[in-house]
Amino acid sequence: MQNKFAEDDTFLFAYALAVSEENAAAGKVVTAPTCGSSGILPAVMYLFYKKYNFSENRILEALAVAGLIGNLVKENASISGADVGCQGEVGTACSMAAGACAQLLGGTMYQIEYAASSGLEHHLGLTCDPIAGLVQVPCIERNAFGAQRALDSALYAIHSDGRHLVSFDNVVEVMEQTGHDLPSLYKETSLGGLAKMGLHGRNNE
Ligand code: SF4
Repeated sequence: MQNKFAEDDTFLFAYALAVSEENAAAGKVVTAPTCGSSGILPAVMYLFYKKYNFSENRILEALAVAGLIGNLVKENASISGADVGCQGEVGTACSMAAGACAQLLGGTMYQIEYAASSGLEHHLGLTCDPIAGLVQVPCIERNAFGAQRALDSALYAIHSDGRHLVSFDNVVEVMEQTGHDLPSLYKETSLGGLAKMGLHGRNNE
């Protein structure tokens, strides 16, 4: 029998994939913070709205928290895959969703900051290597896994007192530096990493 957590995970993945596929089909999405990473925040917020019955007002408050986190990254580092790799897109989206989620779970300011920090920290170094230059592979799946990691980051932070070693500001700073240290092959050029495999994989070339 499928347990409740497995069911919730399945819905979380489905929500993230739905938004990402909408983006890939050139439909309407909210850049949160970018098109390629637009599935993460809505997936987490929709899970809380739809499955856990949080009110629209609570979701709006959480979105304000997410917006604040995203803007801090944008102003102090970058949210562009071409500039810092996927850590700036999926990493930032995860950080935004993690902070918002921690806020919904009743987290203190310190726990929210911890969640946001974890969401970004554990994406440090993530490369941008879209196959055929399209925001589909690996991007779409990354949204599903990014949503899950956001939820986990929030739960982890909520189970702590919010105290931790590396601050959100420090992680943002390191993310920017790491991004600039990454070779351009891994920053939206589709010249390295998974992109080199081509559409049908190296074995089929
Ligand atoms: S791999 Fe590149 S294009 Fe895809 S979501 Fe990440 S940053 Fe965006």
